[in-house]
Amino acid sequence: MVVIGFFAFDTDLEGKEKEKERMKAVWFENREITLTALPFPEPGGNEALVKVLMAGICATDTEIYQGYAEFSGIAGHEFVGEVRKAPADTDLVGKRVVADINCGCGKCAWCRCGDPRHCESRTVLGIRGRNGAFAEYIAVPVQNLHAVPEGVDTLRAVFAEPLAAALEITQQAHITNSMRILVLGDGKLGLLCALGLKHFSSRVTIAGRHAEKLAIAGNQGIDTLAVPSGETSASAFREFRRFDMVVEATGSPTGIREALELVRPEGTVIVKTTSHSPTQIDLSAVAVNEIHLLGSRCGDIDLALQFLANNRIDVLPLAEKIYPLSRFTEAFAHAAARGSLKVLIDPTQSGESVSFSVE
Ligand SMILES: [Zn+2]
Ligand SMILES: [Zn+2]
Repeated sequence: MVVIGFFAFDTDLEGKEKEKERMKAVWFENREITLTALPFPEPGGNEALVKVLMAGICATDTEIYQGYAEFSGIAGHEFVGEVRKAPADTDLVGKRVVADINCGCGKCAWCRCGDPRHCESRTVLGIRGRNGAFAEYIAVPVQNLHAVPEGVDTLRAVFAEPLAAALEITQQAHITNSMRILVLGDGKLGLLCALGLKHFSSRVTIAGRHAEKLAIAGNQGIDTLAVPSGETSASAFREFRRFDMVVEATGSPTGIREALELVRPEGTVIVKTTSHSPTQIDLSAVAVNEIHLLGSRCGDIDLALQFLANNRIDVLPLAEKIYPLSRFTEAFAHAAARGSLKVLIDPTQSGESVSFSVE
């Protein structure tokens, strides 16, 4: 459970003129979260000024609050916005967009190959050296922006970034229709991984502890395994034949050990969890069973937008509640609570929060 260290709205504004030049934003620093008023972002030559329409709170934001990546600044990396200024690409103005979160140097070998995710001097929206989307406005390099297709509404489009991360598995590993795949963890990322993978294999199973969340996958044709309380996935499913691929998306540093017990010899474990606390595993089991360990992070936003535009995945059951920015601390505590689904922030809204009932 996350405890909000400090919360204050900065009312230290000198009259309306100054207020006009500032925007509301949420600042993360030293395990404190402050809702404050900051100057508007000044977009650089290759950047666009984007008005944030909707932002999602991710498990990574909770990890960042607890010290992951030692980030201080405006957090938030899952968002949909509307481009207000883009001197380098004026066609973008007025478009609804989502963004690749990795901003490369543009010069190194990785960047020249079009993959800034591994650029050594990259900044990452709301995670590393660059302000993110828990604010009214954000500055983003124009090459990171992707226009949202008209048929994809803002509430669906806000899932593009986490869905791209889920689909990245399918771009890294050779997946066949007959492969038995287990997704460990029924959190938001686990659900998106299972929902994405079912388009590549007909034998996807998701395991988790929350019946309502497993039902979201079950309703879209995925087999589910409920882990009884007091047991681990590995102990609960010992009788199952081992899986060809196990996707570790538990969000827990101990999830990887369970994944190693559930994968078959010469099988693949996909590592999705990023945690602020270190993980310990027995590497001799990896050697003896000749297991492939494959780390997996951000993915192809256009691929995710295609999935959303073609209604291949129904992401709406994952949306739980939309809060205005002014109630961020409440939203953050909600997102950090065990069993919560996707909690969203709408910085254009000043009134009440909106809940969804999941059918
Ligand atoms: Zn995220
Ligand atoms: Zn680079």
